[in-house]
Amino acid sequence: MRLTRYFLPVLKETPAEAQIVSHRLMLRAGMIRQSSAGIYSWLPLGYKVLRRIEQIVHEEQERMGAVPLLMPTIQPADLWRESGRYDAYGPEMLRIRDRHERDMLYGPTNEEQITEIVRASVGSYRDLPKLLYHIQWKFRDEVRPRFGVMRGREFLMKDAYSFDVDRETALQSYRKFLVAYLRTFERMGLKAVPMRAESGPIGGDYAHEFLVLAETGESGVFVEKRMADLSLGDRAVNFDDPAEVQAIFDDWTSGYARTDDTHDQAVFEAEVAAGERVEARGIEVGHIFYFGTKYSEPMQALVTGPDGERAPIHSGSYGIGVSRLAGALIEASHDDKGIIWPESVTPFQAGLVNLKQGDAATDAACEDIYGKLAAAGLETLYDDRSERAGAKFATMELIGLPWRITVGPRGLKQGVVELTSRRSGESVELAPEDAIARLA
Ligand code: ATP
Ligand code: MG
Ligand code: MG
Ligand code: MG
Repeated sequence: MRLTRYFLPVLKETPAEAQIVSHRLMLRAGMIRQSSAGIYSWLPLGYKVLRRIEQIVHEEQERMGAVPLLMPTIQPADLWRESGRYDAYGPEMLRIRDRHERDMLYGPTNEEQITEIVRASVGSYRDLPKLLYHIQWKFRDEVRPRFGVMRGREFLMKDAYSFDVDRETALQSYRKFLVAYLRTFERMGLKAVPMRAESGPIGGDYAHEFLVLAETGESGVFVEKRMADLSLGDRAVNFDDPAEVQAIFDDWTSGYARTDDTHDQAVFEAEVAAGERVEARGIEVGHIFYFGTKYSEPMQALVTGPDGERAPIHSGSYGIGVSRLAGALIEASHDDKGIIWPESVTPFQAGLVNLKQGDAATDAACEDIYGKLAAAGLETLYDDRSERAGAKFATMELIGLPWRITVGPRGLKQGVVELTSRRSGESVELAPEDAIARLA
């Protein structure tokens, strides 16, 4: 992409309304623009990041065996009357009336909608399990939308739902999601720790929130150091092997890791040595929850079991804050110059800076490198503006592409360009071919 054709409305000033670094940087880097409180347009650069996050979520959901579909944003109130949540949900729900005076709502979540879909066509235990998910916009009329996309009113969520014949198989599904989330967040370069969450009326340990440690997080977290250091790495997981999934699940839930909702200081001190206790702040990026028959019972989503009896389906729901992650990633990876994107979610793999736009030899060298990077499958943002070098560097540092190739007449005389790592700041001079080879 040539910057002269792109739409990258970077801001020079730091926007006064933004209280945290990710919000400031998303505005400054021209990633988002507020439409109204807690509602944003995703400008080209931000939209690219959002799609890369979404793509990783899709790949890891499908890897674990969950099946994508797409449910609407607008739902009929009657479904929520069936579950009893229409009145219970309160003012966070955006209620809408259509021209026929029918009550509708903009979905804050989709348990009712998916339960209706499943009950319409699933009748026997032989049809189960089913793991279904979508990535769709949600609306919650938050009292205090803030921190940009981190607490928006309209936001993009991945929500999955499991349908099983009984509690034991439902918990197997639950464990699969926990394990799938580990790789999902690791692939984004994030350390997201599963922490025990409030389990609601069903009890048991089957509710976890995934928290990214960050000073600006809204939750207090209390965690045993070794839990925060665990890593799945590139270990292949056979999701069809319940024992293997269970073993990973057990490792990751073996130590103390709780948020302020579930924290118990006495237990923390009894179970964890003083030097191992980490008290920090965290951002909730995911939440998984086994809720049994909470919706299937009132909504009559039943299956016939092997014994011929009709019984309600056992379910859980599994969320990931897709749009919140864009902010969380920046909170976790930036410096005073701007964003530092991990390679896995970066909007472009490299930036190409032409130090002397209009100089025939430099322009030609840039065009050549640009074409070769594209041929190698790399997306490059080519700064082909007639700007001074300082301004071009500042833009590249602000938007945080992992690599910058700098091309100028002086280097070209020696047959070299400069390759700079955004993360380390280190530069090396290389022949253009070698710079391309390093990135490919
Ligand atoms: P929070 O505690 O931050 O209000 P929640 O517990 O209400 O979140 P869930 O119902 O668990 O949210 O939704 C699943 C995921 O959706 C959350 O883990 C979070 O990552 C994301 N999410 C929830 N509310 C918002 C929001 N207002 N803006 C952006 N993302 C959100
Ligand atoms: Mg909430
Ligand atoms: Mg929460
Ligand atoms: Mg939650």
